[in-house]
Amino acid sequence: MKTLSEIQISELIENLKRKNISYRTDVNLSILSSFKIGGISPLVIEPENNESLVLALESLKQLDAPYKVLGGGSNLLISDKPDDFITLRLSGEFKEFKQIEDGVFYIGAAANTTPTFKKISQMGYTGVEFLSTIPGWVGGAVIQNAGCYGGELFNKTEFVEFIKDGTLHHKKKEEIDYGYRFTEFLRNKDSIITGIQVKVDAGNIEEIEASLKDKRDKRNSSQPENKKSAGSVFKNPSFKDEQGNPIKSWKLIDQAGLRGIIRGGAQISPEHCNFIVNIGGATAADVHYLVHTIRERVLSSSGILLEREIEYFGRVG
Ligand SMILES: Cc1cc2nc3c(=O)[nH]c(=O)nc-3n(C[C@H](O)[C@H](O)[C@H](O)COP(=O)(O)OP(=O)(O)OC[C@H]3O[C@@H](n4cnc5c(N)ncnc54)[C@H](O)[C@@H]3O)c2cc1C
Repeated sequence: MKTLSEIQISELIENLKRKNISYRTDVNLSILSSFKIGGISPLVIEPENNESLVLALESLKQLDAPYKVLGGGSNLLISDKPDDFITLRLSGEFKEFKQIEDGVFYIGAAANTTPTFKKISQMGYTGVEFLSTIPGWVGGAVIQNAGCYGGELFNKTEFVEFIKDGTLHHKKKEEIDYGYRFTEFLRNKDSIITGIQVKVDAGNIEEIEASLKDKRDKRNSSQPENKKSAGSVFKNPSFKDEQGNPIKSWKLIDQAGLRGIIRGGAQISPEHCNFIVNIGGATAADVHYLVHTIRERVLSSSGILLEREIEYFGRVG
């Protein structure tokens, strides 16, 4: 990737000022990530609506400046030196969600997933309770069709709105290629998700409250609590064991004898070994070392090559 020059950055800033687009300079990205890992970004652009997003993208294109989109930062390992690209982070109107009609909601890409789906559930709608346990923002959840406990975001999604080639597009679910922790947006990386419309069914409020509690309890009992992580590091493999049971990544990591191992400030969680946790001062390089070790050791002990679920944001390792 091409390195950004100071001239490019100052020209970009002049451009943003002229267009009245919000931005911040020298931002410590670690505070914007659930891992609490990441270096200083020279420039974070924070468009507040579709118009300023399109204008910001125009400026980036004009100056041939590479950029990456940051959401809630909960599925990312951010580079220790993220200085060769601009960070784009949606803000303002993108944080809003609104009810369109009974059971139909439009949700902005920068809305927080957990409180948004908790609120929709507590309004008496069912089928999205599981989403109230997933950290991050809705745009990030769309990208990888986030899910848990047998549910996934696309189950209830009607359409996705996104900016591609400077234009706002609107694509129905049926027209989108998606699957387990996958969408065409993740593959192509050529669109910025701006919002989605979901449709949910009316339900019984007591059953919904019980379901919210059940999901929250499951989460609390199965994951390292209050630890800095980016959730599951690897996807579960798509095949089954000899008894016909799905193979779980955590089990393969455990069987390879890796539970609890430490590198610098990073540790393979002793509680849930498909999580790597920042136990204090971890760098992206520490986490990358553990990711690499897991892949090698699981491959040699089981013959299975694990696929990463967390993404690398900038150069790591
Ligand atoms: C404790 C913990 C538990 C978790 N449990 C689960 C779980 O059960 N199920 C699950 O699926 N995930 C889980 N995750 C992972 C993570 O929460 C989800 O993947 C989440 O949906 C990511 O959203 P985000 O906004 O944080 O995305 P980010 O991490 O900020 O970004 C992820 C990717 O999406 C892209 N992106 C973000 N926003 C946009 C946008 N508007 N347009 C285009 N691209 C965008 C980024 O460029 C990046 O490629 C967990 C994470 C943690 C920390």
